[in-house]
Amino acid sequence: MSADPRRHVPRTDTLLADGQIVPAVERLGRDLVKDAVRSVQARIRSGELPPADSVAAVLAGLPATAASLRPVLNATGVLVHTNLGRAPLSAAAVEAVVAAAGTTDVELDLATGRRGLRGEAALAALRAAVPAAEAAVVVNNCAAALALVATALGQGRELVIARGELVEIGDGFRIPELLESTGARLREVGTTNRVTVDDYVRAVGPDTGAVLKVHPSNFVVRGFTREVPVAELAAGLAGTGVPLVADVGSGLPAPDPALPVEPDLQTTLADGADLVLASGDKLLGGPQAGLVLGRAELVQRLRRHPLYRALRVDKTTLAALEATLRGPLPPVRRMLAADVAGLRARADALAGRLAAAGVDAVAVDSAARVGGGGAPEHPLPSACVSLPEEFAERLRGGSPPVVAYVDAGRTLLDLRSLLPEDDDTLATAVLGAAAR
Ligand SMILES: *Cc1c(COP(=O)(O)O)cnc(C)c1O
Repeated sequence: MSADPRRHVPRTDTLLADGQIVPAVERLGRDLVKDAVRSVQARIRSGELPPADSVAAVLAGLPATAASLRPVLNATGVLVHTNLGRAPLSAAAVEAVVAAAGTTDVELDLATGRRGLRGEAALAALRAAVPAAEAAVVVNNCAAALALVATALGQGRELVIARGELVEIGDGFRIPELLESTGARLREVGTTNRVTVDDYVRAVGPDTGAVLKVHPSNFVVRGFTREVPVAELAAGLAGTGVPLVADVGSGLPAPDPALPVEPDLQTTLADGADLVLASGDKLLGGPQAGLVLGRAELVQRLRRHPLYRALRVDKTTLAALEATLRGPLPPVRRMLAADVAGLRARADALAGRLAAAGVDAVAVDSAARVGGGGAPEHPLPSACVSLPEEFAERLRGGSPPVVAYVDAGRTLLDLRSLLPEDDDTLATAVLGAAAR
């Protein structure tokens, strides 16, 4: 063998034309496969890899898909984790997304051959899930829903809002700044800790575009506090003709016994809100979306506003939303409903299995959270597998990566943010991390 390994480096064209590599080029595209080829050539040149292994090494170095986002196991105990993509879609929603991803009848009535109402089936599913809503419209996210409402109802006019509800949602996103960026003026009422229905009613006048209530989803104010419930505010505004808009944030369609503190769409409308806004990818358990439901005349105004065209959602979002509402319970709702005895049994079984393989693993009780700006002080009883601290980093580097959390020198894997069908994959990932 020559002393110069470069003489034995397979040519790029030769590798790309290899019978085992051609299907990868068709699936992933030439550029991504070329990247893998180049790194294999570099390893051969450095003498690290024998030239005979080049095809196998290219195949092993290929990404799973043409996009770099990877599936991750969320063992943080935070059900709606914004950094991990919020709600995981149900299998039914994923199937619906795949079916709608190609050419699809999103805006065509196949029976008549004429143009249809965009996403009509998803809107009908929303109305069915929230019977108090006369109509619904879907935009990109809840921030977009707020922007649309503030623009259509509040531009050049006043939006009346309680001082205690001028909320920062996270990552520097402040609702008052968003509202003002639309050209609406904020008319703040009450104090940081207290507001009364009279404060609102006194502020309403000919310039009022809407009264806005924002659910303080990621904090609580305790002590000498008072807010005005939607029912009381609606009664106070009766006869003024001013729309009452409620941003409830997390998107529970109806009350959930696991979360008595969280407002829901149906109750908020039944209590007298004219419009209710929420995210699609928090507790509803669906795709990123902003849901607007309520009085038909107001929803129509939003739909006809030019800004709607810039905020509307695509066909795959509509498909995922409809399947989330009509299909089996989505993962987030199943996680919320999981009983703690079942979670403890899963933690015991996993810890036993890992301990039998020599891993220092024990089952412990824990407190999970909704996350994503929901029910900040409402712990959900849960169970964890506890591992030595060094596992956290090793698990993040595995395949699939597992995101856990570290507490008091132990890595904790909370089972409430995972489904029972994930447990096998989790065990395999921990055993893999133990072997590294
Ligand atoms: C999360 C949240 C938002 C922002 O929702 P996105 O869908 O992330 O835009 C707005 N308002 C409230 C009350 C929230 O909880």
